[in-house]
Amino acid sequence: MTQYTENDKRIILNAYKGLLRASRGVRKTKEDTARIRKAFDIAAEAHMSMRRKSGEPYITHPIAVAKICAEEIGLGVTAIVCALLHDTVEDTEITLDDIESLFGVKERNIIDGLTKISGIFDFSTSDQAENFRKMILTLPNDVRVIFIKLADRLHNMRTLGSMRVDKQLKIASETLFLYAPLAHRLGLYNIKTEMEDLSLKFKEPETYQDIQTKLKNTKDVRMRFINAFTAPIKRELEKQGLSFKVKGRTKSVYSIYNKIKKKHVRFEEIYDIFAIRIILDVPEEQEKAECWKVYSIVTDFYRPNPDRLRDWITTPRGNGYESLHTTVMSKTGKWVEVQIRTERMDEIAEKGLAAHWRYKENKGAKGGGVDNWINKIRDLIEHNQSETLDFIDDFKLSLYADEIYVFTPKGQLRMLPAKATALDFAFEIHSEVGAKCIGAKVNHKLVPLSHELKSGDQIEIITSNKQVPKEAWLNFVVTSKAKSKIKQSIREEYNQIASQGRETLERKLNGLKVKLSEKNFHELVKLYKVKNFPELNYMIATDKIDLSKIKTIVDKGGELNLKLLKKEEEDAKQEVTTSLEEEAGKLIKTYGGKASESIILGDDNLKQVDYTFAKCCTPIPGDDVFGFITINDGIKIHRNNCPNATQLLSNYAYRVLKVMWKSQKMKEFSAEIQFTGIDNLGILHNITNLISNDLNINMTGLNIGSEAGMFKGTITALVYNTNHLDQLIANMKKVEGINEVKRTL
Ligand code: MN
Repeated sequence: MTQYTENDKRIILNAYKGLLRASRGVRKTKEDTARIRKAFDIAAEAHMSMRRKSGEPYITHPIAVAKICAEEIGLGVTAIVCALLHDTVEDTEITLDDIESLFGVKERNIIDGLTKISGIFDFSTSDQAENFRKMILTLPNDVRVIFIKLADRLHNMRTLGSMRVDKQLKIASETLFLYAPLAHRLGLYNIKTEMEDLSLKFKEPETYQDIQTKLKNTKDVRMRFINAFTAPIKRELEKQGLSFKVKGRTKSVYSIYNKIKKKHVRFEEIYDIFAIRIILDVPEEQEKAECWKVYSIVTDFYRPNPDRLRDWITTPRGNGYESLHTTVMSKTGKWVEVQIRTERMDEIAEKGLAAHWRYKENKGAKGGGVDNWINKIRDLIEHNQSETLDFIDDFKLSLYADEIYVFTPKGQLRMLPAKATALDFAFEIHSEVGAKCIGAKVNHKLVPLSHELKSGDQIEIITSNKQVPKEAWLNFVVTSKAKSKIKQSIREEYNQIASQGRETLERKLNGLKVKLSEKNFHELVKLYKVKNFPELNYMIATDKIDLSKIKTIVDKGGELNLKLLKKEEEDAKQEVTTSLEEEAGKLIKTYGGKASESIILGDDNLKQVDYTFAKCCTPIPGDDVFGFITINDGIKIHRNNCPNATQLLSNYAYRVLKVMWKSQKMKEFSAEIQFTGIDNLGILHNITNLISNDLNINMTGLNIGSEAGMFKGTITALVYNTNHLDQLIANMKKVEGINEVKRTL
């Protein structure tokens, strides 16, 4: 076996000393220190012949992971021991039995969990979605497995520079897709942020660098502003004898990047690039009162925006986050977010629930947040048969969503994701209650199932035994529980109907003396152009399929053969085309006049033939266009530069018709559009930008009023026709913050 060189030894010893320093707080006895030492010795020996891509001895990696566990997550000795050993069972001779006899059964279980996760976690070998599902399924009984896994990934991200570029991209994407959301849900704010920033750095190095540089260049101005802003607050806090720290917290590169991308703003236009954080050093029993005292001082100097007050001290978020947030107007007219919290809350916010547990342990209470969450997820997966990808979407939503707090009629508190509806609440109570739900009373008022709940609502569910889950429900439920139950029930119903169809089909095939074989079923799927056999059966049961067609493809041996159909079908196609062409030809002859043989568009009085505008390119008067005879859908008008045009013109020239507009001059007419939305800075700018720059529409009037965080506005714009108007409305709906757009005139 290769030996460590003197240089290796120096590097390793340094790293190990760093770990001992980082774990000083959690090592309570000599025995704790000895356990860490033992794990280190065993791992160092086992990994002796291995090196990292960077050339360093491999053991530096487990040491770094253990250090992250201690220093950045706040985990204890057991986790440190397991982090040191985390790669031994997978990569070296050491077995789980060794771990158990050397350390104990707890350590065995954690290492086992870690090894299993990494085994199914190789995204390159098989389906990513399925792996993800498996990972959650094996979601460990001991939540430390996830924490160590996150620390492992964080260290790999920090050292990603020495990997091959394709590996970098893959690892960075996985991190963004899965690990950062997990870290977020567990309240590991710093780790989540660092993972996101590092992922961006490897995925889009230029953008990352650009934002980084801009942050650096604007730092002085920002610091001056923060100092001026906080000076009067600091003076007053000191006068009142409070012990505190004030920090200016800049947003992460990744969240700035997201803002730029989602809101289509420039770096310079982001107004909340930093927040002020006031951290108090007070005993736990005075926390709430003191935080509100600071709030009162801050708002004595600066006017607060009442819509932006967040009290996560009275009701902490699901991931354990506690803080009091307010947004106030500075003297220079800029909104500034101020976060007020205590040292304890700050540690939870940065290090997450592990820190939370430590505090709880001290108080002797039990901590439940993560356990509850993991139980919920596990429950969901075990009872979930839906498509894996759907499941991931649902699951990811549950990772990111903010929560609301609502009450049952008996006053029990329930936590739901933001935007949850009355129906979600019903499913939250019980899946049977959800399935039979016909309506709800929110705060004693009758509301529809789709009614969106707000924190503090009290909800009573009304059920009926005749009710069954509807597909349309999927449009407004947001919880994964409701979604999966509805899908499951629809699927069950579907399968039941399909099995009736299968009986019908079997009778039919028996009558035709056709064998009931896989191959023949497959021919039928192709014949009726359906996705799969169950769908075929479903279509049969619901009378959507003409079974008489089958006999045209029965060959002499009693097998089904699609080739028999081909010729017949082609003849039919030819017929349709010819007859349509004849039809169109006739129309042209009748109405075309002597000036041209084109169809004239744009004047309903002169409408000679029925035509519609193609959805792919939505022509408006004035565009260069052609007509195309479709087999089933009449004549469609496409723009010459439509993405489909080349294909249509080159393959089906015989079905193309010349068309022209009545007048080549575009006629505009005035339309009024009303819209409502959430009042935020920049939204008006976005709307006017959209109209005048992106769509190039003339705006002749604009009227906007705002009230209690909502605004209502009307725009008068000149458009060419209704398609144009629809396009404008559709685009306006895409502007973030807008929730309703409609035509009024
Ligand atoms: Mn590792």
